Amino acid sequence: METGNNNNRRPLIYYLSGALLLYILLRFGLSPALDNESTKEVPYSQFIEMVDNGEVTELQKEDYKTVFKAKVDGKEKTYVTGNWNDPDITQRLIDSNVEFKRVIEEPMSPGMSILLTSIIPIGFLIFMGYMMSRSLTKQMGKGGGDFMSFGKSKAKVYVKSKTGKTFNDVAGQEEAKDSLYEVVDFLHSPKKYRDIGAVCPKGVLLIGPPGTGKTLLAQAVAGEANVPFFSISGSEFVEMFVGLGASKVRDLFKQAKEKAPCIVFIDEIDAIGKKRDTSGFSGGNDEREQTLNQLLNEMDGFDATEGVVLLAATNRPEILDPALTRPGRFDRQIRVELPDLKGREAILKVHAKDVKIKDNIDFEEIARMTAGTSGADLANIINEGALRAVREGRKEVIQEDLQESIEVVIAGQQKKNTVISDDQKKIIAYHEVGHALVTAVQTNKKPVTKITIVPRTSGALGYTMSVDRDEKYIMTKQELFNEIVTLTGGRSAEEIIFNTKTTGASNDIERATKIARSMVTTYGMEDDFDFVQLEETYGRYLGGDRRLIASTGTADKIDQKVMEIISQAHYRAIEILKDNMDKLHEIADYLLKKETITGKEFMDILNRKPLSQAELADESENTKIEAPTEDTQDNATEYKEKKEDSDKDLESSNSDETSDKEDSNKEDSTDEE
Ligand code: ADP
Ligand code: MG
Ligand code: ZN
Repeated sequence: METGNNNNRRPLIYYLSGALLLYILLRFGLSPALDNESTKEVPYSQFIEMVDNGEVTELQKEDYKTVFKAKVDGKEKTYVTGNWNDPDITQRLIDSNVEFKRVIEEPMSPGMSILLTSIIPIGFLIFMGYMMSRSLTKQMGKGGGDFMSFGKSKAKVYVKSKTGKTFNDVAGQEEAKDSLYEVVDFLHSPKKYRDIGAVCPKGVLLIGPPGTGKTLLAQAVAGEANVPFFSISGSEFVEMFVGLGASKVRDLFKQAKEKAPCIVFIDEIDAIGKKRDTSGFSGGNDEREQTLNQLLNEMDGFDATEGVVLLAATNRPEILDPALTRPGRFDRQIRVELPDLKGREAILKVHAKDVKIKDNIDFEEIARMTAGTSGADLANIINEGALRAVREGRKEVIQEDLQESIEVVIAGQQKKNTVISDDQKKIIAYHEVGHALVTAVQTNKKPVTKITIVPRTSGALGYTMSVDRDEKYIMTKQELFNEIVTLTGGRSAEEIIFNTKTTGASNDIERATKIARSMVTTYGMEDDFDFVQLEETYGRYLGGDRRLIASTGTADKIDQKVMEIISQAHYRAIEILKDNMDKLHEIADYLLKKETITGKEFMDILNRKPLSQAELADESENTKIEAPTEDTQDNATEYKEKKEDSDKDLESSNSDETSDKEDSNKEDSTDEE
């Protein structure tokens, strides 16, 4: 919409409006003042005198005045005087030989006078208002647009050729790709699905940290699906004027329905999808709420069978309004997490295709050195490497270029604390395995998802609890307690193994405390407080908050009870871990090498018998760790030392692809933090 010639047109517009203003003022206000300077106003009496003296030569009578020329002292000048009800004047003029006339002024036609007195001025005002609003919108960086399309969304329509991206450009995110592929497939051959009665998900929400390829994935979907692709950023809905955002949403969906089957992609949806205000204190943000409500409305208003699929991306899922993520709206959520070792290698390879690079590059080494980086960082590393090669006057990128550029890219990262050193990695591995091991021992269930030491969306580390709370209608006191034990398991492992406490447990602490508090204040599970409600919820349907309704004295007691529950749980977790030290080491080592471990792998290691001395020796040579052994010899500490040696071999062996997928599917539906 924005065009350069706007600027060229501007002066002309100003001239025109200036001229118009001038004309209106002239016509309706200032005309007498503009009778030119040589015109002299004289009293009527003097005018009569001048006529009688024969000085007046010419006269013209107008509605309210009489303009005449007179020769005074040999100089002819123009004079003006007011009209007077003077019947004699005609005779006087004739006597003095004056040439006189009345101006033939046809009365203005009514149409013309309305035009001049109302339409033009009003039009002028509207025009000025428009110019102002236009320049305001422009200042706000939204881009002008013409008056009539105000409020229309500027969703761009992409067709296949435009994005040029395909799933091949996205490396690593296999699960996300699988999930999205289904959507693409549905749009291509809806009949296949309809025949069996399956409905395509209405909304697919991509969740993950910045730079992990969410936007890229959406573009790939556009490239793969041969259907129109509407792409708009959430912030484009945020408007200065109430109601405009909502009308943009309406317009977007109207366009989409016309073009169905098609895909609508809303990037950074958190800009409009923020939780609505529950407290009601701040008065809320009407405009944003209206926009969100409109979006919710539209999502309900179309049927997935129509073939409109809504795709959205966010890196702040926790601030999204729960109404957006409930079933029937964004009913499929895809996690796009930071890549693990294998993923990083794959991403490096994808981007290496864009540059001239030596054949013998060891991408795995680079991947190993870049734990905690995103796909965007890795793309950047390749690019920096290429730049370095040019600086050094080479025609190809070599290993050293990449190694060096890691530092360039990561230096910026380290400030943000996202790149994990080996020491940190070790602590994180034990922390995560601590959680998982405690659950597994307590409930004898495998962790629902994979465990990973790659940092997760929320900044919390990557463990998911094996009990999916949302799936259960009620939970017993014991189950809640076990959950707290699990939550303390991470910190407990840190304490046992490294004799230290880290900041990594903050989220666990928060959650554990919440559960413990609820046990006391909401679920009435502690006998000391019996069946008394101590907290109330407000804004319940918006994922509301709680506030205490107990007296100060009771509040103290509640705090005490909460601490009691948590220390009991903490103690229990330490007990469990101490009883299973060998497994803790074994699984943590495995995790350190692979960065990700599936639930199945986890249980395999947990359930297999410890390796014998002989096999351990064997292993250092043969790199086989997968096969369970019959021979049992329980010697955990020695095992650990031995295994340190065999580390290198370990990682190249066993990887369990199939179960990886299996597990990750479940992950999508899991309440993670
Ligand atoms: P997000 O939207 O998640 O913040 P983007 O999709 O904008 O991230 O990714 C930024 C860039 O990083 C992409 O254009 C691409 O070059 C690179 N990138 C990120 N993830 C991947 C990936 N999985 N495979 C290949 N390239 C990636
Ligand atoms: Mg993005
Ligand atoms: Zn933890």
